[in-house]
Amino acid sequence: MSSRYAIGVDVGGTALKFGIVDNEGQLIQSFTDPVQGDEQAIIAQIKDCVQQAATLVDHSLIEGIGIGFPGIVENNIIIGGADNLPGFEQLPLGNLMEAQTGYNVVIDNDANMMGLGELVYGAAQGCTDIVFLTVGTGIGGALVLNNKLYGGYKNRGTELGHIIVQYNGNICTCGSRGCLEAYASVSSLIEHYSTLKKELPDRVNGKQIVVAFLQQEPEAVAAINRHFDYMAAGIAGYVNIFSPQKVVVGGGISEAGDFYIQEIEKRVKALAMPAAYAYTELVTAALGNKAGLLGCAANVFRSLAKVY
Ligand SMILES: [Zn+2]
Repeated sequence: MSSRYAIGVDVGGTALKFGIVDNEGQLIQSFTDPVQGDEQAIIAQIKDCVQQAATLVDHSLIEGIGIGFPGIVENNIIIGGADNLPGFEQLPLGNLMEAQTGYNVVIDNDANMMGLGELVYGAAQGCTDIVFLTVGTGIGGALVLNNKLYGGYKNRGTELGHIIVQYNGNICTCGSRGCLEAYASVSSLIEHYSTLKKELPDRVNGKQIVVAFLQQEPEAVAAINRHFDYMAAGIAGYVNIFSPQKVVVGGGISEAGDFYIQEIEKRVKALAMPAAYAYTELVTAALGNKAGLLGCAANVFRSLAKVY
């Protein structure tokens, strides 16, 4: 079969990644543009990105456009909740893009697209049941059950960073208290480490803490161990509910070294129910910051072209 192509557009709070991907998951070419302006400007920017990507291959071989967008996305409509992108409420972005470009469009939440990317082309290839987590400023996630993304009723759930791991605990960005994100995100790690070191958080980053941890600095050891403990508490809960084949952990910190996933795995094993954990493996994400873009393309091949 000759190659078919999908245009992927991964919209983030600060940057827009886009490119063209073939049905084997090869990224033919990709670009990154800073996100600029208001809702109308960003819509125009997405359209420009699509047109730029479309020039790279024969137009007739393009199956459609896959878009990953922060916040809640239901039936190709942006419902809202993208904190860094003002506007974008009840916006029928799918219809708009179809009308403006002539391609079929499929849109879903950005973390869902990362999870789908890892399932189809990355660390969870061949699996049917996975939990995906991306650990950064916040914690995002995706759930694949029986080989399908599961988003809850009207795609409003699977906020995996917002399960409560500490009753009445630290305030979370979502307005609640004690969420996994409020304890195990990189922002929370930095805040905790800075408190222990009596330094200002803006002078510290995640990489420095990892380096200090590897040098056995006591404050870094304490902060990272707490990070591991909370990650494991959250993941053990997912394992007991879903008994996934793989828990895929992504985000910059997951690339700290093999010790990272091994330390979390050790703790999950001690916390999760043995029967639920029996077939579960913890793995580091494989696609890095291309996961979202590749997931957007995978969504085109799966949902629009029915390639797999
Ligand atoms: Zn929360």
